[in-house]
Amino acid sequence: MKLAPSLPENAPAGIISHVVANGACVGCGLCAGLAPETLKMELNSRGCYEPVPRTTDPEGIDQLSETCPFASTTNEDDIAKSLFGQNPELQHHEQIGYFVDTHVGFVTDPEHRASSTSGGLITWIAEKLLSEGIVDAVACVVPSEHAAPQRLFEYRLVTDLNELKQARKSRYYPVQFSKIIPEIRAFDGRVLFIGLPCFVKAIRLAAQADKTLAAKVTHTVGLFCGHLKSTFFSEYLIRSTGSDETQITTVDFRKKIAGQKANHYGFEAFGDRTKTGTGSSWIPMRQVFANSWTYNLFMLKACEFCDDIMAETADASVGDAWLPEYVEDDKGISVLVVRSAEIATLIENGHANGELELGSLSTDKLIATQRPTLQQRRAGLQYRLHLAEQRGQWHPIKRFGADPGACNLLYKAVQHLRMATRESSFRHWASQRNRQGRTYFIARMTPLILISWLANELRHIRSRSAAVKRRLLRLLGADAR
Ligand SMILES: Cc1cc2nc3c(=O)[nH]c(=O)nc-3n(C[C@H](O)[C@H](O)[C@H](O)COP(=O)(O)OP(=O)(O)OC[C@H]3O[C@@H](n4cnc5c(N)ncnc54)[C@H](O)[C@@H]3O)c2cc1C
Ligand code: SF4
Ligand code: SF4
Repeated sequence: MKLAPSLPENAPAGIISHVVANGACVGCGLCAGLAPETLKMELNSRGCYEPVPRTTDPEGIDQLSETCPFASTTNEDDIAKSLFGQNPELQHHEQIGYFVDTHVGFVTDPEHRASSTSGGLITWIAEKLLSEGIVDAVACVVPSEHAAPQRLFEYRLVTDLNELKQARKSRYYPVQFSKIIPEIRAFDGRVLFIGLPCFVKAIRLAAQADKTLAAKVTHTVGLFCGHLKSTFFSEYLIRSTGSDETQITTVDFRKKIAGQKANHYGFEAFGDRTKTGTGSSWIPMRQVFANSWTYNLFMLKACEFCDDIMAETADASVGDAWLPEYVEDDKGISVLVVRSAEIATLIENGHANGELELGSLSTDKLIATQRPTLQQRRAGLQYRLHLAEQRGQWHPIKRFGADPGACNLLYKAVQHLRMATRESSFRHWASQRNRQGRTYFIARMTPLILISWLANELRHIRSRSAAVKRRLLRLLGADAR
């Protein structure tokens, strides 16, 4: 595998020289948290976090490669095997990782469920661990204390059950945890870390290298993750509600709409001077131009190098139950993968005492909830790695190697289109930001979005006709041959 001109095989890549330079930094902040005197996290001109050296010749920076989720040569399988591989009760699935149980369900408390992203399971697990004294603090994402237009959310170490309520809801917004790493190291107690798959991987790598951190972070919960957005995404959505991002104090990316399918959620912006002047204004996401996540607008480039959707290194992971039989419920339903016996017991007790409504979920159904993303992270990733190697560009070492034949011609075209829409969205929003509204952005993006839409439609037609052909062959008994 071609890695980089000056990088020997299996040598960890430099975080600045390789990871940041090639856009593979997700901005998690671990490196700056471990070496705050050497690095600081800053938002770059694309609204994404990245580490910035404090001096021209930063010392000790090479050692940080071992713990960076995109520079380390230790992958999710290695980490998960060392954590869960010894437990004979755990099963392993190539797309899910290790698991003891898979569930579908939600919290029964109506207020809790209404104020959560989907079924409210993440916050429920965190509340249980904290209230039962299993952990003493939760590292999670909450609205920023001093909300500024470019810093709406942040990581905080929460010890209070009431404050934990603020963590509810998915924030499609860049966050980084450099500030809380020294706080966790100094904390007198056990910590639950909640994060995206690559964030949990980063914490696991750090714990392998740092005994203090390993002793403190005793539990982890991961979110399923399709991709992360830059701050441009919230600016774009705020303007889509007719408001101005400088007047907004916080946002809800997942406003539940009564009577609508769970995946037909809205976006709401809060502030004193919103368009409606009432303190909040909102828009159904379906009315936002190019709202489909498949266009990859404002997506971090690092997410193009990701192969973990279900947070395979976390003790438990939670996602949305995106299947026809579940999305009809406007109040939201989650899917859950449990890897730790302790959390499995917690969940069983919650089910038994009526705090959780749970059903069993087959691995096939679980995978079906994330099918398009899994394809993007397997076949799509292999093709993108091939493209990077063709250009002689460094890329992180992934569990699935570069393969030009991983996709058919149409899916290759879709990959090129997704990369183009991602890149163009940054360029055109950067030009739009100094103007009012979003008309310039929409006008510039429309041709690419139309072509992408057409390519998606062709793929749907193709897969529908393949399904019809399969059914026909079954009917004729041809599949028995
Ligand atoms: C960027 C992103 C992409 C996602 N992609 C998918 C996907 O493709 N498929 C899917 O099924 N689910 C995805 N999810 C997860 C999904 O949106 C829900 O978070 C999940 O279903 C849990 O719902 P809940 O009601 O149990 O969570 P809640 O009880 O509402 O709790 C949400 C928790 O998420 C944490 N959190 C919120 N935003 C962030 C963030 N940016 N970084 C780290 N932690 C955060 C909060 O601290 C809180 O603890 C994504 C979430 C995010 C933030
Ligand atoms: S991915 Fe995280 S650890 Fe790696 S360089 Fe970026 S901020 Fe640092
Ligand atoms: S898609 Fe992967 S790299 Fe991107 S934020 Fe999610 S887990 Fe991290």
